[in-house]
Amino acid sequence: MDPLLDIARQHDLVVIEDTAQAHGARYKDRLAGTIGDVGCFSFYPGKNLGAYGDAGGLITNDSAILEKVRMLRDHGVRPGGKKFYYEAIGFNHRMDGFQGAVLGVKLKKLDAWNDQRRAHADQYRQLLGDIADIRLPQEASYARSVYHLFVLRVPDREKLASALQGAGIATAVQYPFPLHLTPAYAHLGFKKGDLPVFEKVCAEIISLPMFAELTEAQITDVAGAIQGFYSR
Ligand SMILES: *Cc1c(COP(=O)(O)O)cnc(C)c1O
Repeated sequence: MDPLLDIARQHDLVVIEDTAQAHGARYKDRLAGTIGDVGCFSFYPGKNLGAYGDAGGLITNDSAILEKVRMLRDHGVRPGGKKFYYEAIGFNHRMDGFQGAVLGVKLKKLDAWNDQRRAHADQYRQLLGDIADIRLPQEASYARSVYHLFVLRVPDREKLASALQGAGIATAVQYPFPLHLTPAYAHLGFKKGDLPVFEKVCAEIISLPMFAELTEAQITDVAGAIQGFYSR
């Protein structure tokens, strides 16, 4: 973030953090979402802090941005302003009160859940560290990850995935399609091979089971199945 903030300062840019997987994560002791001008959180049910349906939120210290996004989420009506009096063209992005109630309860548990995820990541790293074909996620010395995902890089992802599937272990690929090769960004004119590192990583990543309630025994089972696959 520091190099990014430097560039932003030089060019008078606003920095918006995508913190959708980073609830409680830290960069040099600063909480993700508080480093740039705005931090955007997803409360999709599967996130570290998830609602009981779709939800999201943002944090900012900039009162002008705050006023504006509050207006935009409610069809352009200024908070505390006249009902049905539209000062901008906005959206229906109000969060259900019900989701807020769920999130209020779960927020108190977030730190404990994140600690559990971190312990799971340590256990995975201990058990999988000796397998030459696997590249494990590493944590920079200045960072504190909250392991929304635990993503390996392997050369033979599809085979590993189907071996684990056969052992009753679900995996996922987050995310399989490099954005520059999706129809949504076709207008930018990129073609296969233009971003070789990105494309290679997309083809190698595989996410292992990761959630707070995982048990040590379950992680041992997952690691055992992976060890079995690579010792064949
Ligand atoms: C989940 C996620 C999003 C999207 O969140 P929504 O709640 O669907 O808007 C964006 N960025 C990252 C990195 C995510 O993980």
